[in-house]
Amino acid sequence: MNGRKVVIIGGSITGLTGALALKAQGFDVTIVERDRSPGDSVQPATSNTWTRRGALHALQPHVLTARLRNKLHEWYPELVEDLLDAGAWEQSFEDTIHPDLAPGYHAPPGAEPISVLMSRRTTLELVMRRHVERRGVATFLAGTRVTSLLIEGDEAPIAARGVRIDDGEGERDLSADVVIDASGRTTKFANALRTAGAVITDEYHASNTVYYARHYRLKPGKTFPSTYGLPGVMFGDMVFAALPADNGAMIVTLAVFKDDPLLYEAAGRLEVFEEIARRTPRVAAWVDPSVSEPTSAVMSWANMDFLWRTTLADGAPQVLGFFFAGDTTLRSNPKYGRGCTCGTIGSHILAETLASVSDPAKRALRYEAALRETFRREWEDLLAVDRRDYARFEAAAGIRPMSFGEALQSRLQDHVLRRAMVIDPHVQRKIMKGFFGLEDASAWTKDPVTWLRIAAAALPIHGKDMFKEFTMRPSRQEMQTLIER
Ligand SMILES: Cc1cc2nc3c(=O)[nH]c(=O)nc-3n(C[C@H](O)[C@H](O)[C@H](O)COP(=O)(O)OP(=O)(O)OC[C@H]3O[C@@H](n4cnc5c(N)ncnc54)[C@H](O)[C@@H]3O)c2cc1C
Repeated sequence: MNGRKVVIIGGSITGLTGALALKAQGFDVTIVERDRSPGDSVQPATSNTWTRRGALHALQPHVLTARLRNKLHEWYPELVEDLLDAGAWEQSFEDTIHPDLAPGYHAPPGAEPISVLMSRRTTLELVMRRHVERRGVATFLAGTRVTSLLIEGDEAPIAARGVRIDDGEGERDLSADVVIDASGRTTKFANALRTAGAVITDEYHASNTVYYARHYRLKPGKTFPSTYGLPGVMFGDMVFAALPADNGAMIVTLAVFKDDPLLYEAAGRLEVFEEIARRTPRVAAWVDPSVSEPTSAVMSWANMDFLWRTTLADGAPQVLGFFFAGDTTLRSNPKYGRGCTCGTIGSHILAETLASVSDPAKRALRYEAALRETFRREWEDLLAVDRRDYARFEAAAGIRPMSFGEALQSRLQDHVLRRAMVIDPHVQRKIMKGFFGLEDASAWTKDPVTWLRIAAAALPIHGKDMFKEFTMRPSRQEMQTLIER
């Protein structure tokens, strides 16, 4: 088909969902992926044995938002079926209400369901990959690297005409009408375009967060411990979570800050990680040796950041026939679990743009406008939350005292997340809707009824036992003793 040949660099979440969306619009898609295909021995239950050098973060915990789950149901119901058959499962909001309150809770009439997909990221990607391959959605060049872009022109707007690839046997050119860069956070093509004369502008914020994560597997006959509220527990200096996933697998994550003189690095030592887990009740039941056994070392990840990239300068496209997608165009601190959602919805937006607009400059303008319309407010909200979290950390770690305003905000956050949300399912629903991407993360702050309920949750009539787990953890002094042991 003339003008319809698309090359996608990178066959991960964005590349795969982009291929599905483009194929549905009639494009002829080739995915170039530098990692080799998973062998037949890699199955959903053993998905974490798949070596993903090009996406090492695939072994880190991933929360797949309700927004993503709903879009997958709407756009790719057969993919969702494949995922569920492979052992992924859906956890509804109702499953996360405190067991004492669940029987009496009734969702407001007509309320939208809030369900999240529970799966390891490797299982999600493996199932997507095989779904795409089985259906002949794209030509998949695995074990093949894009080494450079084929570019025409030496001043903006420059135009992409394809890519040069290396499959280990030598280099060759692959021409294309459209090139999509879904090569992830370490893309080298933004700089390649800059060198070629395009002005590519990044808004960037490093997040200072570090993840320490360990995989576990349920022992035979055991089930996941019951859970309620958010999937973890949030303190100023650490966030600890146990995330149930597919096929009896689960991932325990401890997020701390790089500037923490006590926990940075030390919390990643196996014995320290395990001991903090055992002394934090929200996590302890999951790592109990009678319930589960570890299946990995403690793995760390320290590159957490925010990026918003534009290929427009003074409103004019700098590059034609080339689009950044997924992590190459926008990302937020992975702690907020938006990456796969933005990659999937963003690549869908791109496919719709390419299908409905043929002029290359108008395509660039329409795509960026639609990304901004869809994600910008949430991105800014999350950036503000990230900055507040850092202020909370600095106070918790004794680095600097909070201002009066910061202290008030921090008290409110503790009250909402550790108390009001647990004892009032209506507050919980409102917060989770934002947390899982079905509305703005800050939407609850604009809802007077939620404020009234949050205020009522402060009354001393509620049994402390319901939410005390959310306040229990080893103190910094205790952790220091553990670390020095
Ligand atoms: C620690 C951590 C935790 C996260 N938690 C969550 C979460 O809870 N929920 C969530 O939704 N998101 C989460 N994310 C974000 C999510 O992982 C990313 O947003 C997602 O992987 C982006 O997908 P992508 O396809 O754009 O890029 P990637 O997954 O990075 O894939 C890029 C692909 O491009 C390939 N590639 C690279 N260069 C080339 C080349 N030159 N030629 C050919 N192929 C190439 C790579 O091999 C790779 O397969 C997390 C990220 C991290 C780091």
